[in-house]
Amino acid sequence: MNSPRVAIVTGAARGIGAAVAERLATDGFAVAVADLDQRACAEVVARIKSAGGHALAVQIDVSDEDSAARGTALVAERLGPPTVLVNNAGVLRDNLLFRMTNAEWSTVMDVHLRGSFLMSRAAQAHMTKAGFGRIVNLSSTSALGNRGQANYAAAKAGLQGFTKSLAIELGKFGITTNAIAPGFIATDMTRATAERMGVSFDELVEHGAKEIPAGRVGTPADIAAVASFLARADAGFVNGQVIYVAGGPKG
Ligand code: NAP
Repeated sequence: MNSPRVAIVTGAARGIGAAVAERLATDGFAVAVADLDQRACAEVVARIKSAGGHALAVQIDVSDEDSAARGTALVAERLGPPTVLVNNAGVLRDNLLFRMTNAEWSTVMDVHLRGSFLMSRAAQAHMTKAGFGRIVNLSSTSALGNRGQANYAAAKAGLQGFTKSLAIELGKFGITTNAIAPGFIATDMTRATAERMGVSFDELVEHGAKEIPAGRVGTPADIAAVASFLARADAGFVNGQVIYVAGGPKG
């Protein structure tokens, strides 16, 4: 089937999102590099363009209904109807339960859960019309529970239920919905975790690698490879799955 090849990747200015955007561009997608700060997307867009790909920087706050709807409409107008959506935008607001503020709870829910809901609702209109779509949600091994991350773990576990429900609802329109649940991936997010724990990033990486059967921590490219597979037309029978990408068995 000749499906439109336009992808939106949220939180794509850096880290895993940037790697997914670049990988999908290499796969031949025109990619909307979406993040809170449009200027922060410029470097990723420039890298994609200099490699011969097609990309557009788009300002989207995924937790804001108007921003999600307007951003998605802009992508449809400038690149064509989006048929791939990678809900990657994320934040951490770690704290132990007794110290966790309402704001720390709500911010994490708003970005991960509400954000994925708003973006998926906006994008599915284009996907159902095209009779083809791929939604990929970023969960986490933290969905299995993690000290200091009651908010994040709840949001990432919630995304797994969200993923399975969309898979059931949207499957008949040629749309698959799957989740990737990464383990330790070296990005600014895990750098910030090291800082918060009062250890160096190298120490955290070294300790993490010892705990991982593959003997190393993950890279954004490890996640991008799985997103690339899930976005393929011939991955159409993989639907409602949570794929742990953690260098060992999880889940
Ligand atoms: P990162 O380096 O912190 O990048 C996250 C990006 O999302 C940032 O550019 C951030 O922008 C953006 N963002 C935050 N709130 C947003 C919003 N409301 N709307 C749009 N964009 C927003 O994180 P990462 O490590 O690449 O993680 C990417 C995803 O993978 C997240 O969902 C994360 O939870 C998940 N994950 C990561 C790991 C890991 O080990 N790194 C493991 C499991 C799951 P600002 O910089 O402006 O905040």
